[in-house]
Amino acid sequence: MNSAESAALEMVLCERGWKKSSNGGKPDLVLLNTCSVRQTAETRLKGRLAQYEALKKKYSLSDKRNGNRPFTLVVAGCMASRLGEGLKAAYPAIDYVMGTASRSIFPDILKAVETGTSYEADGEPAVFSFSSSHLEEGAFRSFVPIMHGCDNFCSYCVVPYVRGREVCRSPRSVAEEIALLAERGVREITLLGQNVNSYRYEDENGTVDFPGLLRMVAAWTRGSSIAWIRFLSANPKDLSGETIAVMAENACFCRHIHLPVQHGSDSVLAAMNRRYTRKSFFQLVEDLRKAMPSLSLSTDILVGFPGETEEDLEAVLDLMEQVRFLYSYMYHYNPREGTAAFDLPGRIPEKTKRERLSRVIALQKKHTAEALEKRLGRQEMVLIEGISRKNADELIGRTERDEMAVFPGTREKIGSFAGVTLHSLKGHTFRAEQVN
Ligand code: SF4
Repeated sequence: MNSAESAALEMVLCERGWKKSSNGGKPDLVLLNTCSVRQTAETRLKGRLAQYEALKKKYSLSDKRNGNRPFTLVVAGCMASRLGEGLKAAYPAIDYVMGTASRSIFPDILKAVETGTSYEADGEPAVFSFSSSHLEEGAFRSFVPIMHGCDNFCSYCVVPYVRGREVCRSPRSVAEEIALLAERGVREITLLGQNVNSYRYEDENGTVDFPGLLRMVAAWTRGSSIAWIRFLSANPKDLSGETIAVMAENACFCRHIHLPVQHGSDSVLAAMNRRYTRKSFFQLVEDLRKAMPSLSLSTDILVGFPGETEEDLEAVLDLMEQVRFLYSYMYHYNPREGTAAFDLPGRIPEKTKRERLSRVIALQKKHTAEALEKRLGRQEMVLIEGISRKNADELIGRTERDEMAVFPGTREKIGSFAGVTLHSLKGHTFRAEQVN
């Protein structure tokens, strides 16, 4: 979500003629797009702010002497929404605070910077508005936000508090953005939202839900440059049979879903307010795999939630064993003030949380290695994403199942599809050979 929003902000800068400053040079503007989901992200951001504060002081003398403007420091994103003007009071070097719903004021801020004036915002607007395009310059993949905010209030999560309630983008606006991306030759899009399955847009023409939108997107992209479509994030409680059917009927939907299960114990899932059970999750996985046998699944797993017992952890490991995710984002619980879980009794000691997390990570590593081993010898299409970091004569591509493969090739192929044979593994990346 944040990288899509960073790209949208970057686009506003580019459209107004701003250029990225070279490393080491004094910038005219520093834009920090922040995340509040984890405490560590906030702590890191505070460190960065202290650095920029020192830098601003350092430059201010020479700026005054030479009649230059001091650089402008803008803080955007979730942390700006959560802490608002309080952030500015704590770090006076910040010139503007722009929450996730206030992104539309960015051009006004830039105009003030360009003209040497100042801009006063009226606080966060009540209604979130989607910006017109999120295409990073030269990109062949793009995010397409379809909704903003979340109504789910999982007990550990700050997102509904910092991003607000769900707002869905109109199908017409989604269609316009997709048409623009197709015009620019984009090959892959990812429909983006905190919980895309709960997408629902109503107007005088009727109601469009998520499977309805998927059907429309499949039709809009047919015959265009956009060959692959993904979506993120899909809360397991809302992934409907109809969504599965639309995916299965349309090959443009990549055979990969990120399905954040978070835990494997019913009592912990209930305490997290996830509103599904392990039984319903297993049923969902079975339905998905029945409809799309080649589908790969990835997930998020959160251990060390307050009150989690050794048996609960065993339930996580058992669920992983049964589902066999291709990969997982695994983390341990850290209390976030303002969330329902913050006041729950039974906090787990740090050492136990780390130990439990390491068991989950070890099991996932084993599952990933086994899943990839089974794929050796297969022919797959990859979208070529760039040059391999380890060898300038090799390209790196991604399969629709979200697996990485490197193979010999040259730069001009970046952004195109290639057929490859997966012949060996190095870590979790395939070594491959191009076949067409
Ligand atoms: S679905 Fe739950 S975890 Fe995801 S953003 Fe909403 S509240 Fe947070």
